[in-house]
Amino acid sequence: MSYTLKNCRLIPELSGQHHLTIADVYVDEGKIISIADPDSHTAQGIVIDCKGKTLLPGLFDLHVHLHSEEEIMPTAANHFTIMKKAMQSAQLYLDYGFTTVRDMGSTNRVSHAVREVINEGLFIGPRVIGGGKIIRPTSKENYHAGDSFIREVTGHNEMLKAAREEFAEGADIIKIYASGSALQTSGVPTQPIFLPEEIRAAVTIATMEGKKVAAHCHSREAINMCLADGVYTIEHATYVDDEAIEILKTEQSYLVPTLTPMHHRKPNNRDPKDDAILEKKLKVLAEASSKRLRTAYQAGLKMGFGTDVSIHSFSNRIGIEFKMRKELCGMENIDILLQATKYSALIAGLEGVTGEIKEGYEADLILMDGNPDQDLTVMYEKPAIVFKNGIKVV
Ligand SMILES: [Zn+2]
Repeated sequence: MSYTLKNCRLIPELSGQHHLTIADVYVDEGKIISIADPDSHTAQGIVIDCKGKTLLPGLFDLHVHLHSEEEIMPTAANHFTIMKKAMQSAQLYLDYGFTTVRDMGSTNRVSHAVREVINEGLFIGPRVIGGGKIIRPTSKENYHAGDSFIREVTGHNEMLKAAREEFAEGADIIKIYASGSALQTSGVPTQPIFLPEEIRAAVTIATMEGKKVAAHCHSREAINMCLADGVYTIEHATYVDDEAIEILKTEQSYLVPTLTPMHHRKPNNRDPKDDAILEKKLKVLAEASSKRLRTAYQAGLKMGFGTDVSIHSFSNRIGIEFKMRKELCGMENIDILLQATKYSALIAGLEGVTGEIKEGYEADLILMDGNPDQDLTVMYEKPAIVFKNGIKVV
């Protein structure tokens, strides 16, 4: 199926600095074929009038958990239920304009199964980068989680084995937990929890596989340890310090902040006492991350875009990560849009494939009603149209 998206408004920074700001974008066989002056050619295929709307590259969420609608941990469920929920999540991501998601830990490695049904064309969903199970050090924090989502290791050898097994099971990237958790009452986010040799073991195996390691890190020490040992993405990055920012400027590693859960967390309906503890803890983290990520942004770092909340709760907080980055970290609209598209594509290894509107790129496109570079609240709504690989899904 081919389409002409007629009279779209383009944002130069997201469109390879294309000289046209109003253009007809022709899509065929999954690709962006041409970007042309609306007055200088005849539209082909199905014509969609996009006047007054801005065409953006499909969005990225580099920190999702496809498995569950629960806020924190999945409840025990059978494989079918987990798969069904993960597929529902995948579908919702597309509805909200996310054409690529990176799963940072899923129950029974369901992200890989979802990725396969999408890649085989059995189901239309976003491009999925699967992180498998989260590798964490043995600790009491894990006992909330059950073993379907987390695997415990202690020491270099166990890490080698875990990393090898996760890749053998189909992981595109390894996710490790390098500092205490924010969302579990017993976690101490300022505390590193892996030894350098354990982190190095994960990176060694990933490098042999031609792949990368992502690390959950709030703590300053954990962030610096991970950067020194070759971890590729620092998730959350709450206490990123000046030393880390200097290293990150070399663009060997990147930050994937996730402000949403720190500021907008629903009570977990477990123990009200736990909720009070978490609320207090998250407030401290929110203040620290706003300050430190503002500094990292002002230093000019290219960051990824992640949310780390269940897509099922997006209906009451769509666009919240955009809003948080702007209001709490003072980021410019265009930079947040770059984070959610071009920079995340670079971080995901999809530069030159998607993340920009350029001829020859995958036709992952969303049409927004208004000018999001001038008014970011445009991103607080669902897209009017979503294309994934040239297929109109919304
Ligand atoms: Zn997460």
